[in-house]
Amino acid sequence: MSILVTGGCGYIGSHTVVELLNLGKEVVIVDDLSNASAKVVDRIEEITGKRPSFYQQDVVDKDGLRSIFKKEQIEASIHFAAFKAVGESVQKPGAYYENNIMSILSLVEVMAEFDVKKIVFSSSATVYGSLNPSPYKEDMPVGVPTSPYGQTKVMCEQILRDIYISDNNWSISLLRYFNPIGAHESGLIGEDPSGIPNNLMPFIAQVAVGKREFLNIFGDDYETQDGTCVRDYIHVVDLAKGHVKALDKLNQAPDVYTYNLGSGQGTSVLELVHTFVAVTGVDIPYKMAPRRAGDLASFYANADKALADLNWKTEKSIEDMCRDTWNWQSKNPNGYENQ
Ligand code: UDP
Repeated sequence: MSILVTGGCGYIGSHTVVELLNLGKEVVIVDDLSNASAKVVDRIEEITGKRPSFYQQDVVDKDGLRSIFKKEQIEASIHFAAFKAVGESVQKPGAYYENNIMSILSLVEVMAEFDVKKIVFSSSATVYGSLNPSPYKEDMPVGVPTSPYGQTKVMCEQILRDIYISDNNWSISLLRYFNPIGAHESGLIGEDPSGIPNNLMPFIAQVAVGKREFLNIFGDDYETQDGTCVRDYIHVVDLAKGHVKALDKLNQAPDVYTYNLGSGQGTSVLELVHTFVAVTGVDIPYKMAPRRAGDLASFYANADKALADLNWKTEKSIEDMCRDTWNWQSKNPNGYENQ
């Protein structure tokens, strides 16, 4: 039996596939490569010595999915495939609502047809919105995210909760990620943003490798210890391991399980930059810039529930995240391109 991983060639998906294969699980990747490279499959094989099945396929296409479910013995799905750029979602809300909502609907419909009723869903801390105080806890009411991207996460969570209400045989895990950074310690897989990176760590990495001249720090007048925004950074390998634990939990009993996957620790933009410089010895020139629209001053997880229920907690430090990011970026200055 195999685990279907949609978006398995992406940043978090690829790291999760590695953890699954390392545990001896069979994996089927479905990815349309709209924001990922097929080379990831080779890299996964290089790391694990095992080659997952791979289908270049859009999850929205139900008939395409059906043919995969006919060929493969799928026992559960982990659904990563989605559009994920917050700023772009403000510019192109229609595309975000269409892709992210249609893909979850398509996937669960085809899963139900094949009587596969276990799913782990990539959600986000953005579902807490701007009004809940940190640390965020899973039993807080879902808020109103500031972007269409965030709204799609709220809606997909609700769709999955409603599906469980309609059919109590489903076993569903909603994983609310905080800020994943870092890379596999091999340096063979990592984050490879197309165009100008939107997120902080990929931007720092591109400054470090000489692709960008300096980092803009968006706001130094927030009510935080040094005036820059505070986030809960989590090493992508810790995050991947959280998925494996959440998947195991689905075998216990049908239900909807919601977990924060974060460290519980806040780190400011300046702290992250300074740690990166200290760990790598590479200077990161930066300039203070105006606040970015929609940014919250500070948020971080209460990670107690994942520890209590899944026996999962983060193990890697901010130093590990910086070292592994630099290892990946320096070995792959252009990501997966031109190699
Ligand atoms: N940030 C920054 N410069 C950049 C990118 C991000 O100062 O080039 C800041 C951003 O304003 C936020 C923090 O870094 O305070 C984390 O941003 P990211 O987009 O990585 O995560 P998110 O804000 O979505 O949690």
